[in-house]
Amino acid sequence: MYEFAVTPAVTQLRRPGVIITEVTPGSLGEELELRPGDRIVRVNGRTVRDYLDFRFQTAGETDLTIQVKKTDGQTEEIEFDREEGEDFGLMFEQIVPRQCANECLFCFCKGNPEDARPSLFVRDEDIRLSFLYGNYTTLSSITPDEMKRIIEQRLSPQYVSVHATDLKTRAYLLGVDESRADISDKVKTLLDNDIEIHAQIVLCPEINDGAILDKTLRDLAAHHPKIVSAAIVPVALTRYNTDDRLTRVTPEFCRRTIKQVEKLQREFRKTLGVTFAFLGDEIYIKGGVEIPSRRHYGNYPQIEDGVGMVRSFLSRFEKVLDRTKTAGQRSEAVSLARQFFANARTHPEARIPNAGSRNNPARAINTMHGTILTGEMFAPILEEQIERYNELTGSRLKVLAVPSTYFGGDVSVAGLIAGQDYLAVKDKIEGDFAIIPKHTIKSDEPILIDGMAYASLESKFPVPIIPMDTDDLMAFLAK
Ligand code: SF4
Repeated sequence: MYEFAVTPAVTQLRRPGVIITEVTPGSLGEELELRPGDRIVRVNGRTVRDYLDFRFQTAGETDLTIQVKKTDGQTEEIEFDREEGEDFGLMFEQIVPRQCANECLFCFCKGNPEDARPSLFVRDEDIRLSFLYGNYTTLSSITPDEMKRIIEQRLSPQYVSVHATDLKTRAYLLGVDESRADISDKVKTLLDNDIEIHAQIVLCPEINDGAILDKTLRDLAAHHPKIVSAAIVPVALTRYNTDDRLTRVTPEFCRRTIKQVEKLQREFRKTLGVTFAFLGDEIYIKGGVEIPSRRHYGNYPQIEDGVGMVRSFLSRFEKVLDRTKTAGQRSEAVSLARQFFANARTHPEARIPNAGSRNNPARAINTMHGTILTGEMFAPILEEQIERYNELTGSRLKVLAVPSTYFGGDVSVAGLIAGQDYLAVKDKIEGDFAIIPKHTIKSDEPILIDGMAYASLESKFPVPIIPMDTDDLMAFLAK
């Protein structure tokens, strides 16, 4: 049933090598007459599969021979010297993710509306993306070649979805047989070779909670510091997840889990010196329990997984407020906000309204009167902070929670706000501009998660839209 992924699991037929997409003017790449579209096939006789290979095989090398397939079909061998550490000035095609061989009960793909854009159905399970971007893999269908590559190229840390160390439970959750689910030897090999691991547990009530969660966390902690941390995030079910083996996460479940994990966290702090096991922010918010302190999170090892984001935001916001208290802050904030407007492009094609148009951003910013849209989960937290900011600065910023009509169910995070969700609340927008979370727009194409074109959203909004991430928002509000 899962045979296709046991063989080297590549989902697209592609020619060998890595394609250059950009060459920086004046760079070594230009000097070597490399052009966009050229494909680097070998470096010093070794095959190149992707840009990680290119990076690895050129690292520390000063005498190089590269074999290049030019766009006209000719093959060239280029021999050259370079200064140690000299940059090639090359950009490469993106890695084509390899896909997973699992049938997880809670897979996000099963929670997508049928008409969701195709990229939402990509089930990536790729050790390269794990290393580069912190994407989780289950390691259940990793090939010997991939294992070798992690070790040889030091692709550390790896982010691993463990879910449960109890084998039966893991196999059940992943929808694979126990031999496939058993990754104990692979984990041991990685740890023996000093590859660090960050573990993730997607917590499903009545499946991998309670005693199984205790066992999982203790088993993982036994390998600290090589297993650096464990994140426990609640399963989030949209209205399309109808599998009756899954139970929705309730506030009571969250409170019970917090109590259970707090005991272990105390124990880990005593024995390991770190919290080690971190609960996702959503668990505290849903349970109505205060978010732990800054110290609890250490260096925020799992912040990309939504663990500690709220505390990090609150700490940074406090600094913004402190700075804003100083004299002259208002005019500085306004001037910075003006500059920000000029640079608030998310995608090259994203339009910034022209000065003098009905959506004149300069006019908007002069008043600091606008609306910040975010997911329902974070909105109350942000609103509390923005009220403090308004009191201090005289600004009139409003926070607007955007319910998820597109996914429905438990979905309340900002990252999953769809174009149609924004449109559903547009009449509640106040002021002269609307700030939306930047990551609700696809990074390489100006569309939203439901496929709506960003330009279409802009044209239907009553005010100019400014997409911002947390850094942008802080800069916007800060002195
Ligand atoms: S490993 Fe990830 S992508 Fe694959 S089935 Fe499980 S949840 Fe879905």
